[in-house]
Amino acid sequence: MADRPGRKPRKPHTAQVVRTERLTPHMQRVVLGGEALSAFSADTCTDHYVKLLFPPEGVTYPESFDMERIREEFPREQWPVTRTYTVRHWDAEHRELALDFVIHGDEGLAGPWAKRVRPGETVRFLGPGGAYAPDPTADWHLLAGDESALPAIARSLEALPDGARAFAFIEVDGEQEEQKIDSDVEVVWLHRGDRPVGQALVEAVRGLDFPEGRVHAFVHGEAACVKELRRFLRVEREIPREDLSISGYWRLGHNEDGWQASKPEWNARIEAEQEGTASAA
Ligand SMILES: Cc1cc2nc3c(=O)[nH]c(=O)nc-3n(C[C@H](O)[C@H](O)[C@H](O)COP(=O)(O)OP(=O)(O)OC[C@H]3O[C@@H](n4cnc5c(N)ncnc54)[C@H](O)[C@@H]3O)c2cc1C
Repeated sequence: MADRPGRKPRKPHTAQVVRTERLTPHMQRVVLGGEALSAFSADTCTDHYVKLLFPPEGVTYPESFDMERIREEFPREQWPVTRTYTVRHWDAEHRELALDFVIHGDEGLAGPWAKRVRPGETVRFLGPGGAYAPDPTADWHLLAGDESALPAIARSLEALPDGARAFAFIEVDGEQEEQKIDSDVEVVWLHRGDRPVGQALVEAVRGLDFPEGRVHAFVHGEAACVKELRRFLRVEREIPREDLSISGYWRLGHNEDGWQASKPEWNARIEAEQEGTASAA
């Protein structure tokens, strides 16, 4: 059963960077490993994620690393900063965990870290959490997201049984950001170009000719785009809430700390707007 980050128990894992690989111009893979990962597993969900713990600049913690002690002894601004990343691959035999980072410029913590990190560096993280895996009883599957959701969509497509009916839309910067995914499902790669993030994705999902039957959907990415898609799927298409895995993975103009802090209110507002409309419809 997944241990949900943000809730107790909050025992961090410690790992070392084993290798890095630039998958595309804006996607960097960082593979973590080490003896301590013998206590880790991530086999239940296809959207498993971990919360990396970055010490703020200039802060060091006593060994052995203990979150409870840090919370007791350090002021809040010196607690580790968390950044959330999907488990792209978990190789239990070799204890290797692959995370794929969007390189979205010089801003932020995790993106720039992934670009510069070298093998041997120690990394601490909480998790895994996770909540989704394609429902084998669904008639068809819809997977949609931007590059932040690419790792989870790819892992989900790879987990679909042969012959499963699925439509996958992934918005990326351009053709150079497309990745090979080991699946029979043909991914529709949407090239953002100069358009605002999420616009191409919303248009493509809205344009899909929905097949008959029960859909199980996984939709994640930039928060405003996800909000639009939630309205479409939940209100216009009346997909039951339990058949939708849908949330903002990041929010334009907000770092993860800001986004996560405002997310409960953001979600509550969407819920009120969209569910109000849904029940009135
Ligand atoms: C469950 C879950 C799983 C996730 N899995 C992945 C994953 O596998 N790979 C991945 O790359 N991301 C993933 N994300 C998103 C990632 O956590 C955020 O993008 C995070 O904000 C990146 O941290 P940062 O330190 O690089 O940038 P921050 O310090 O958080 O943000 C700095 C600035 O960069 C902008 N920004 C943040 N992310 C992006 C982006 N993707 N594109 C353009 N601008 C951006 C912010 O709006 C802000 O203005 C996931 C999020 C969740 C909740």
